[in-house]
Amino acid sequence: MKFKAYTLQNFRNIPQINKLSEEEQFAIEVVGTVLPFMVNNYIIDELINWDNLPEDPAFILSFPQKDMLKVKHYEQMAELIKKQADIREIKKTANKIRMSLNPNPDGQMEHNVPTLGNKKLKGIQHKYNETALFFPSKGQTCHAYCTFCFRWPQFIGISKFKFAEQEADNLIKYLRLHPEVTDVLITGGDPLVMKAKYLRDIIQKILAANLNHIKNIRIGTKALSHWPYRFTSDEDAEELLDVFAMVNKSGKRLALMVHLSHPRELATKEVKKAIRYIQQTGTILRSQSPVMKHINDTPKAWNKMWRKQVQLGIIPYYMFVARDTGAQEYFGVPLVKSWHIFKEAYKNVSGLARTVRGPSMSADPGKVEVSGISEIEGKKFIALQFIQARNPDWIKKPFFAEYDETALWLDDLKPAFSDKFFFEDEFEKMVSQS
Ligand SMILES: *Cc1c(COP(=O)(O)O)cnc(C)c1O
Ligand code: SF4
Repeated sequence: MKFKAYTLQNFRNIPQINKLSEEEQFAIEVVGTVLPFMVNNYIIDELINWDNLPEDPAFILSFPQKDMLKVKHYEQMAELIKKQADIREIKKTANKIRMSLNPNPDGQMEHNVPTLGNKKLKGIQHKYNETALFFPSKGQTCHAYCTFCFRWPQFIGISKFKFAEQEADNLIKYLRLHPEVTDVLITGGDPLVMKAKYLRDIIQKILAANLNHIKNIRIGTKALSHWPYRFTSDEDAEELLDVFAMVNKSGKRLALMVHLSHPRELATKEVKKAIRYIQQTGTILRSQSPVMKHINDTPKAWNKMWRKQVQLGIIPYYMFVARDTGAQEYFGVPLVKSWHIFKEAYKNVSGLARTVRGPSMSADPGKVEVSGISEIEGKKFIALQFIQARNPDWIKKPFFAEYDETALWLDDLKPAFSDKFFFEDEFEKMVSQS
């Protein structure tokens, strides 16, 4: 299948576009001028149910929605476009709106960039002891942009700080000095937009470096759900599968961390074929996705996804909480509601699907899971725990917040029984030193 991308410039050429009114098409233009927009022919032809608009989850996942912007921002931009304002003015206004959408949440930029000597390694993040993240420069885009993307500033070029490393040499130097690292997670964007030969270069270097402490290589990708031809019929699909097999033959394990957002992504013929091909290389598939209003905020969606994943040989891994960036107001599901969704979906699956953890916030101190709602002496509390943390001693220690049905993120929660969460003083010290 030939890859065909549609963006702000050409989306009116999408064959099914007349399923949308002129007004709806205009809304895509307005919001797509502020937030990144790119969709491809697989999503359009195989995932979106065009008779199910405007609620269709695959549609909302890929097409900008009017309510993703605040009314005043929407109207401001709509007016500029209607009067065909100067492109510089449009850009300036777009940037202003973008800056109000918290483009750099949670200290990703400041706190997790390691150094080698006194050189900052911008394409590496190392926050949790065992896992180092690597952002290859050629893998910093995607086969389509998710409307809820938390890395959105990188796709519209307003990220002051682009995570990206030219090649793997610095990564290897860094790993040599860090024997505590067992996993390298290659991420993006989507590293599988890279040609297989570039991925082969990186992986060959890691393997040739004889780093015995590295046991697992992970790749974070949405290609499986949004461009499965990457593994089946792209020009270098076979070469890509060879690279996967090469890792597994070396004695290290390749794990694909696949974004799966709604059940339909697992229903097409092509995705099933791609899963089979990947599995034949010895690669393990694990799934992760945020819980998002308008896309998958029902127990039914998650229950169905987890069941289907297990049946297809994908291990359910994380349910994330929408980050406090971009269109969080549109997509955000409150923590208490996210937990209810998780629990209702989880209680009706067999143990094989209970490998999944969440709902989890990737916050600055660590990944914080909403473990449940407790009632203590007649009062409700939210029970939390770290499943990853800057200090590993914080992990698996239950702690409590005041019950709050509107809280969307860790910052919105008030500590219960104390004026601070147990980790806060230590965390502040860590951050002020880095
Ligand atoms: C989630 C995450 C990881 C991986 O954590 P695992 O628990 O090993 O899956 C690594 N680094 C960062 C910064 C993360 O957010
Ligand atoms: S796959 Fe990830 S990085 Fe790419 S657009 Fe979606 S959320 Fe953003």
